[in-house]
Order: sequence, then C-alpha cells, then structure tokens
Amino acid sequence: MIIQKNVLDEVFNEFLKGSSIFRKREALRHDFIPESLPHREEQIRYLGEMLAPALKGSICSNILIYGKTGTGKTAVVKYVLTRLNKKAKELGSPVRVSFINCRLVGTEYRIFSSLCSSLNTSIPFTGLALGEVFDRFKKTLESREILLIVTLDEIDAIIKNRGDILLYELTRINEGLKNSKVTILGISNDLRFKELLDPRVLSTLREEELIFRPYNADELYDILDERAKIAFQENALDNGVIELCSALAAAEHGDARRALDLLRVSGEVAERKGDKNVSEEHVREAQKRIEHDRIIESLKSLPLHSKIVLLSVYILKNFNVERSITGDIYNVYYELCEEMGYIPLTQRRVSGLISELDIMGLLNSRIISLGRYGRTKKISLGIANKIIIQCFLENEQLKKMVNYHPKYLMNLKR
Ligand code: ADP
Ligand code: MG
Repeated sequence: MIIQKNVLDEVFNEFLKGSSIFRKREALRHDFIPESLPHREEQIRYLGEMLAPALKGSICSNILIYGKTGTGKTAVVKYVLTRLNKKAKELGSPVRVSFINCRLVGTEYRIFSSLCSSLNTSIPFTGLALGEVFDRFKKTLESREILLIVTLDEIDAIIKNRGDILLYELTRINEGLKNSKVTILGISNDLRFKELLDPRVLSTLREEELIFRPYNADELYDILDERAKIAFQENALDNGVIELCSALAAAEHGDARRALDLLRVSGEVAERKGDKNVSEEHVREAQKRIEHDRIIESLKSLPLHSKIVLLSVYILKNFNVERSITGDIYNVYYELCEEMGYIPLTQRRVSGLISELDIMGLLNSRIISLGRYGRTKKISLGIANKIIIQCFLENEQLKKMVNYHPKYLMNLKR
C-alpha cells in the first residue's frame, strides 16, 4: 500500500510540475483551428468572395470542395464560416450557418434533424419517417426569412454508404421555398466522389468548385513552425525537428494532419524518456510508432476473409514457405475456413483479396520468371510476424488458428 501511495504521489507531482516539452499540447490536436492558416490565403479569399453576398441577404452559389485528407479543407471552411457568422451578427444579416460532419452524424435522418436543431426546431431521435423530418425542416425554413448555409463535411462518407438521396432533396429545396434560401457547401476527401452522384445533383451542387492540393515540404514547415510556437515550450525543439517532420509528411501525401501527429508524438516520445528536448531521433521513433499503429488499425478493420487470407500466408511462412503461390494460399485458406465453419470464397475472389492486401502493403507479390516455364506470382507477408500475431490474438477464432498445421502442407511434405 505504502509503495503504491508513493508511486501515485510521484505521478501527480510530475503532472503538476507541468511539462518541460509542451506548453499547450491541445494546439496539435486535429480540431484545433489556429489564428492564421498559411498557404491557404487563396482558398480563404475565394470562399469569402463566394459567401459575401449572404451578408446582404442574397443567395450564394453552392460550392463543392475537395482534396485529400489533411489539406486543410475543414480548417479553412470553419475559419471562414466563423468570421462570416460574426460579421453577419454585427450587421444583423439573416445568415445562419450549420456545419455537419456526415461521417460522424451518419444517417440522413440525423443530418436533417441536426439541421432542424440548428434552427431551434427539435426532432425526436427516432420515430418519424425521413420525409416527415425533411418537411419539418422545410416548414421551419419557410416560417423565417433566412439564408441558411449548410456545410456537409466528409460528404463522400454518406454518399458511399447510403446513396445520394440527401443531396437530391437538399439541392432541390430552394425550388419550393419563398422566404428562405439554402446554400450548400459540400466537402469531400475523395476526389472520385463526383462519379457517385446523379448528374442532375452534381450540376446543382457544383455551381462552384474549389480544390485543395496537398502541401509540399516547405508549406508543411510553415504550418508546423507556427503551431510549434503555441504548442511547445521555448527551445524545446532541436534544430531540424520541424524540417524532418515536414519532409517525412510531404513524402507521403502532404497531409498536415500527419505532420502535426508526427510532431506531437515526437514530443511525447521525448517526454516519456524524460528528455528535455525533442530531437530528430525522437521524430524517427515517432514515425515508427505511428506507422505501427496505422498497420494495426488497418489489420483490425480488414474484412474477415481478408484476415483469413493473411493468416494463410502467415501459416505458410511458418512452414518455411516464404514466398507462396496463389494456389498454396488458397488451399490453406480453404482449410482454415472449413475448420472455423465458414463458407470459403472462390479462388478468384481470394485472388482479388490478395491484390487488395498487396495494395495496402500487408502482402507483397512479385512476379518471378521461371525461364522457359513461364512466370509465376509469389506472395509473401508485407509486415512483421509479431504484428500479425498481436492482431490475431485479439480475435478468439483466429487466435485458435495461429498455430494450425494445414493437412494440405503435411501431405505435400510426405
Ligand atoms: P482536411 O479537412 O482537408 O482533412 P483539416 O482541415 O482537418 O484537413 O486539417 C488537418 C489539420 O491540419 C488540422 O489540425 C488543421 O488545423 C491543420 N492545418 C491544415 N492546413 C493548415 C494550414 N494551412 N495552416 C495551419 N494549420 C493547418
Ligand atoms: Mg476534414
């Protein structure tokens, strides 16, 4: 007991002493919006110009915004909308802004009900038909005289899962409104999102388009440098740390979120080691840690049959088949499915899964020439055994199969 008390005292005192590395760690969080957004002046100005008519009560064009993750779309839109809202209040303009993350909100029902609640009309959690919720939204709009700017962030998520009914209704809503008007700001992380839309919906939604390109290393440097001044104690970062974080993130796809994560985790690594400064070495370690977490995440979220395919390659490797051909993998996969009581997919489907795993970097496939016997595809694991085990041990069923001896291989050996 006494020992425990001392340990806790130490933990609490350490905490109360504050960090010698971080001054304000929250400034590195994804939802933190800084005072200025370097290298997005053009997009901020453009959005400002597009939305300014709302201040005088005129309707604005719908805008479709897209770019990869971490290119600053959400931050820029929130930045502009906050200022627009403030200006509208000052002027007494009839502008209302509502911001919805479609991935988090999830269903059309909940999207329309949060639109209603942004207009102070409440909707029961369940029980109404979707059409009813939509009608109430429309009625509420019609009972006022406002210009509602509806921002649908990560709109691709809902369209992919549920089709374009939401946008279909929203893009036509102005036709039936006399007093109020709606402007839609759609934000998508997926550049191919447009292909998923009905052409009529698309043409209404895309009256204006704004593209966010990935940041390069210099731009990421400026973003990190500004954020580091808020987040870290003075002199906590060694020279070269910000350069390295920006270079590593730029080499991937210019994602500011990754760059900020890297900087934050580097600081945490230094802190945990009890070091006073963040060094390049800490950044390298942070990079490894993030990569490791990312692989674990992608492994965990794989569909069941992809997991079984991966497990098959793992088992083959344990039987000293470092590089296997699709046929071997399929035979082991088939046996595993039978053992676990699943209906195996066809070999063709399994080949498809292998290609997907290859693209994700979880498997490596290589074409090997057999001289005059032609060519064959050999497949090996793209990640360490340790990671596979760590992940599969968490799944009760797969756990039992990790040390499985396939009859197929036993027969081959004889
Ligand atoms: P997206 O919505 O395109 O995925 P976000 O807007 O969420 O990207 O940006 C990811 C993170 O990077 C956020 O923490 C955001 O504050 C930061 N960020 C992005 N662009 C900039 C910028 N130009 N200046 C400062 N911070 C930025
Ligand atoms: Mg976003």
